[in-house]
Amino acid sequence: MERADILIVGAGPAGIATAVEAKVGGIGKVVVLEKADHICDTIVRLYHPGKRVDPNFQDLGLKPIGTLSFKTTTKEKFLQFIQKVVKKYDLDIRYKHTVDRVIKKNDFFEVRAGKDYLFKAPIVVLAIGIFGRPVKPKYKIPKEVRDKVFFGMPLSGPENKTVLVVGGGNTAAETACLLSEKNKVFLSYRRPQFFRLNPVNMNKLEEKSRQGLINLLLNTDIEGIEPEGGQVKVRFKGGETMSFDAIYYCLGGATPQSFLQSIGVELEGKRPKIGPDGETNVRGLFLVGDLVAEKGSIMFAFNSAKITVEGILRKYGNVI
Ligand SMILES: Cc1cc2nc3c(=O)[nH]c(=O)nc-3n(C[C@H](O)[C@H](O)[C@H](O)COP(=O)(O)OP(=O)(O)OC[C@H]3O[C@@H](n4cnc5c(N)ncnc54)[C@H](O)[C@@H]3O)c2cc1C
Repeated sequence: MERADILIVGAGPAGIATAVEAKVGGIGKVVVLEKADHICDTIVRLYHPGKRVDPNFQDLGLKPIGTLSFKTTTKEKFLQFIQKVVKKYDLDIRYKHTVDRVIKKNDFFEVRAGKDYLFKAPIVVLAIGIFGRPVKPKYKIPKEVRDKVFFGMPLSGPENKTVLVVGGGNTAAETACLLSEKNKVFLSYRRPQFFRLNPVNMNKLEEKSRQGLINLLLNTDIEGIEPEGGQVKVRFKGGETMSFDAIYYCLGGATPQSFLQSIGVELEGKRPKIGPDGETNVRGLFLVGDLVAEKGSIMFAFNSAKITVEGILRKYGNVI
């Protein structure tokens, strides 16, 4: 069993920032376990090529408080920046290590990543995000339409189709704007107005709506979907129906509740109970990034890593 001072699970923005802050804070052996064969899998998988990466994504005006920070950039340049960070701080990232078990034994955690890899550490930081499990609607997605239903932003989108985007957050707005370049787009949101959008996305959406490139279906709630010819028929509450060539649900991600509970983490509703530094009720187990964010963003992930490492050094500096 390999021993580390801190084991970080997940090499997204939060996990990498935690490793950087740990190194800057002088912690000896810092190991990051990542299930993909590259860093930042959520960004690699879900951001479309050339996507604007905005530090004020959720319009929270967060100022950087730790070592890492960035200015508005593109997906590709952001990934290059993170790769440079990994090199500069000589981070020890073990790729293709999916952590499926964490057990607390006295003052140590045993962490299993696949059959053959066992690690041991007094401190474990989970930075696995929420986008491994996209939120899906409560109604059934019939199997006949599954190839026309997508969860998130398309890496390469359709052309000359009539599509529906569902959601009211920044990802829904960005997806609708992207698809509207080559398709007829409808955007369904259950509230009467948008209130979670950053100013850039809000302006773009208003502009596209004025130009008739995006049709806003505000105050609409979908009751169900069904196949109709080669299309998907959408039934709205109130009885109205419309048909689309494809639907893109942008409803965010879900907390991995059962994984957290398997380690003994207490939840409050659907969210983990944590202290101000991200420590859970399991002593020495910390959560960072999207796992603890009300509104997740890269800057939040960077900042939460700083706060967590400060907490670790304050409370456990003598054992690591
Ligand atoms: C389409 C889209 C657009 C966005 N645009 C922006 C934007 O412009 N600006 C912005 O600030 N934010 C944006 N966000 C939000 C931002 O991407 C997240 O807030 C951020 O990635 C959270 O970082 P994280 O490290 O907590 O989680 P993630 O980035 O999700 O990273 C988690 C990492 O953990 C790994 N992992 C998961 N499970 C395991 C396991 N069991 N074992 C080992 N590894 C595991 C994953 O492979 C992944 O690499 C966007 C999100 C989406 C989906």
